[in-house]
Parts: sequence; C-alpha cells; structure tokens
Amino acid sequence: MGKPENIKVNNAFDLSVTAKNIISISCLEDIQQLRQLDSGPRLVLGSATNVILDEYFDGTVIHVLMHKITQGDNGVVSVGAGLPWHELINYCLTQDLYGIENLTLIPGLVGAAPVQNIGAYGVEVSSVIHSVTCYNFATQEIETLSNVACMFAYRDSVFKSKNYMILSVQFHFQKVFQPDLSYPSLVQFLADHHLAHDEVSPRVLSQSIQAIRESKLPWPEDIPNVGSIFKNPIIETDSIPADFLEGHRWLVADGQTKLSAARLIELVLTGIEIPPTLDFYKKHSLVLINRGGAVFSEVTELLRAIQQQVHLLHGIQLLVEPEIIES
Ligand SMILES: Cc1cc2nc3c(=O)[nH]c(=O)nc-3n(C[C@H](O)[C@H](O)[C@H](O)COP(=O)(O)OP(=O)(O)OC[C@H]3O[C@@H](n4cnc5c(N)ncnc54)[C@H](O)[C@@H]3O)c2cc1C
Repeated sequence: MGKPENIKVNNAFDLSVTAKNIISISCLEDIQQLRQLDSGPRLVLGSATNVILDEYFDGTVIHVLMHKITQGDNGVVSVGAGLPWHELINYCLTQDLYGIENLTLIPGLVGAAPVQNIGAYGVEVSSVIHSVTCYNFATQEIETLSNVACMFAYRDSVFKSKNYMILSVQFHFQKVFQPDLSYPSLVQFLADHHLAHDEVSPRVLSQSIQAIRESKLPWPEDIPNVGSIFKNPIIETDSIPADFLEGHRWLVADGQTKLSAARLIELVLTGIEIPPTLDFYKKHSLVLINRGGAVFSEVTELLRAIQQQVHLLHGIQLLVEPEIIES
C-alpha cells in the first residue's frame, strides 16, 4: 500500500509532512481512541514549533485540543493543553496573575510548555507549575504529576520520555507582582526606554519582552522557523583558552561556561554551503529559516555539517535544540 499523501501535518518549519493517521483529543472520552490504537509509533504534537519532522510519519499524530481555563478555590489555575501559550499570557494580564510575563511571545501550546520547561529572560515555566495532568501511555491511566515528579531541569522534564500525553497544566501564579528584571537584554531595554524598575507593571514587562523578541526573532507564521536551532553549549571553563569567544561566553555555576551557539555558527559558516532553500535569519544567526521548499534531508545535512565543522575547528559539540523526528 502506498503512503497516504493527504493527511498533512502542519509544522512551523513548513516542511511538507504527512502521517499515516492523525487523531484529536477534544474531551476525556476521546482518550478511548488511544486505547484502541495499535502499538505503532505515536507522536503528540502541539503547534510543531519545536520539532523538525521527516517527510512521512508512519504512525499516529495526536493533537490535544482541550483549551479551557478553570480557576480553583485553592488559587490553582488549570489550563487545557490545547490553549495557545500567548492566550494564557493575555489571560494572566487581565486576571492579575503574575509570574510568566518574561515568557511572552514564546510560540506553541500550553501542553508543550512543561515538556522542555520553556524558559526565557531568566524565568522558567516550572517556577509556576503546580502539577501536570496527563495520560500515561504505558499504564493507560490518567495521572497528575506534582511539580517535583515532573523532574524539571534546564529545557528538560520527565515528559521528554514520550510516555505521557499532557492534558492540562495546573499553575500556581503569583498574586503579588515580583518581576525578574535581571536579564541583561531586559535591563538594557528598560534603560534605553527610561523605565525605572519600580515603574514596570506586568503589562509593561510583557510588552517590553514582546518588543525585544520582535526585534530579533521571526514569528513562524511569517517566516517558517523553529527558534534556536542549537543549544548554547555549557563546558568546563578551564577546557578553553581564557580569550576564546570573548564577549560571546558567560560564566555559569560551578566553573562552567556557556558559549554562544550563534557565534560558533558565524565562525564556521564561510566554509559551509547553505542550500538556497535555507538561510540563517539576518537579525539572529541561531535561527534557521525555511526560505521556501526546504526538505528534511537538506536541514539535517546542514546541521550535521555545522556540527562537524564546529567540532573540527573548536572541539565543541553543538546539540540540536528542536527535536528531530525521522521516519
Ligand atoms: C520563534 C521561536 C522562538 C522560540 N523561543 C523559545 C524560548 O524563548 N524558550 C523556549 O523554551 N522555547 C522557545 N521556542 C520553542 C517552542 O516555542 C517551545 O518549545 C514550545 O513550548 C513548543 O510548543 P508546541 O506546541 O509548538 O510544541 P511542539 O513543537 O508541537 O512539540 C514539542 C515537544 O513537546 C511534545 N508535546 C507537545 N504537546 C504535548 C502534549 N500535549 N503532551 C505531551 N507532549 C507534547 C512533542 O511531542 C514534542 O516532543 C521557540 C520557538 C520559536 C519558533
């Protein structure tokens, strides 16, 4: 039997992708469909802004559509996995719920936010997550995992195991606005706009983050991309010369240094041929863009070439940030 070409999988990098089967979970009763699935491959997807998909997925793509917001008596706010993240930001701004302003304009759905513990401008979503309700594919039961059980770390959580389908996320937002304004580019933005820290309201903070992001990041619907294409490598400080990547490195805890992956890419690009369908965004060299018609193999070959060149010239291992899902 040939591959069904008509089940299209939308994705932020705008690659041409189809799947054998796609199902939507609109209510808890729909989970019954999962129990009837064969044991073939399955992939839970939100807006596909953090994945690079191969041309054909020989299994079932699952979309969780529930998107209700419910405020409990205990102050915990439960949010359906299918709600776009920016809608939650707007909701919080109107309801005097604080803590995620720094995460303004991160694309994607609420259900994906715990998976890689989304973070930006000094804040990680795990700081306001109370618990996560999900379907466990192994036990076929619905479970609620506490914040601790989610095992959050930098861009990581228990959900990376792919054993869970997140149905809703429970948040304990702050009731008193205690913003984190310490991130260097935010400090700079506030200074440039003559905004004293005590003048920064939640809305002003959210708008500031939006302005900073819009000045350097393309929105996937305008220019197909999946955000940062490589992670910033963190290495032992004494494993590199003191002047290596000066101005593009930051000390982190325990004698470790974070290096700018964007700078490492810039250093090797002259020796690499970029196919005409792909390019790096002019305002941010860590963002790979699809100029139109790019195919999966071109993307993976380019990323491999950059990794090899960075390793060859600088001895540093670059890791791809979005998940690459091969056929
Ligand atoms: C321009 C741009 C800027 C970005 N900036 C940031 C940033 O500042 N910080 C940051 O952390 N990320 C950033 N990202 C990455 C991305 O926005 C986030 O990872 C986002 O949470 C992905 O949401 P999504 O709905 O598109 O998830 P998808 O890409 O669809 O899925 C991502 C992963 O989560 C899994 N998943 C999705 N939904 C569920 C679910 N309901 N249950 C279980 N697993 C699920 C998928 O299987 C996959 O492994 C950026 C991306 C872009 C394009």
